[in-house]
Amino acid sequence: MSTDTSRRQNHAVICSAKGCRVGAAYGLLWNNPKLHKPERRKVWLACEGHADPLSDFLSKRGFLKDALPVSELTDEMG
Ligand SMILES: [Zn+2]
Repeated sequence: MSTDTSRRQNHAVICSAKGCRVGAAYGLLWNNPKLHKPERRKVWLACEGHADPLSDFLSKRGFLKDALPVSELTDEMG
């Protein structure tokens, strides 16, 4: 009885904020043009409480590209 539907949907996603162990609710997609190719997307995972400060941090630096609910993130992001 094996299924091949082992997508990473159940993969535990934990907030990227330092010291935070809360499950992430959002993925913040960002790119630092000094380090990354323009099409590259780094992802920071953020819980409800850290979504604002983390996206604020990124947007102030002009790095923030997008923010998505965790359920819409795909495996090639990261
Ligand atoms: Zn957090």
